[in-house]
Amino acid sequence: MVAVFDTAFHMTMPPKAYIYAIPYEYYEKDDVRRYGFHGTSHRFVSGRAIEILKANGKKADKIVICHLGNGSSIAAVKGGKCIDTSMGLTPLEGVPMGTRCGDMDPAIVTYLMEKLDLDKKGIDTYMNKKSGVLGISGVSSDFRDLDEAAKAGNERAQLALKTFAYKVKKYIGAYAAALGGVDAIVFTAGVGENDRAIREAIAGGLGYLGVEFDREANLSCPRGEEAEISAKGSRVKVFVIPTDEEMVIARDTAALAAK
Ligand code: AMP
Repeated sequence: MVAVFDTAFHMTMPPKAYIYAIPYEYYEKDDVRRYGFHGTSHRFVSGRAIEILKANGKKADKIVICHLGNGSSIAAVKGGKCIDTSMGLTPLEGVPMGTRCGDMDPAIVTYLMEKLDLDKKGIDTYMNKKSGVLGISGVSSDFRDLDEAAKAGNERAQLALKTFAYKVKKYIGAYAAALGGVDAIVFTAGVGENDRAIREAIAGGLGYLGVEFDREANLSCPRGEEAEISAKGSRVKVFVIPTDEEMVIARDTAALAAK
């Protein structure tokens, strides 16, 4: 039996990225710190991006990975190592997700518990299962349903999609600051690999960073295949790279078994 930890890739985060600004003893005694998740996916996808960039003679040092699926997380990868990621002690932190709230004012927890007389389990269910794009839209956690509802004029579905794209875009900006620039931005997972409208809503407005988004390439990007969706001369490259967590697990297992 081999266990491959989804947090492992993020263990290179420096303390300033993983520490919470709460009393230090909670970190020392209770291990409360940011761990991050989707590490197996971030590792595979950033590795592929580095290979592609190097094969084309491009800089491959500073990469932002957008793993957008039912659960979503963003990672900042420098020199092949993770320096920050959006999920925290649990997968609840970061961008809004299918049903998870992502970042919010932590005081909302006690406010709602008191106002609605919720217990720990009750508030946990709200934040993990009833929030995110489902919570905003009231329609679905599935981006296919949201795209359809938004096209049909459902304003809350439109707001959910806009909010999601806006928050991902803010994380890209934050990680560009953390990395000191960006060489490539990569989309992966169910939404990142398939939802062209969301990719455009996120990467279409990053001209200030040096991203020249290729709308046509994004629209014609074949599903399930690697593709570049930035213009030929774009200083910052944008890719769609299908994730392959099973491959990373298989490689780690083979490496361990060979010892
Ligand atoms: P994952 O968690 O990576 O398996 O992603 C699953 C999510 O991807 C689903 O809940 C959908 O929201 C989204 N998804 C899958 N296919 C599509 C598609 N063709 N267009 C938009 N979103 C999609």
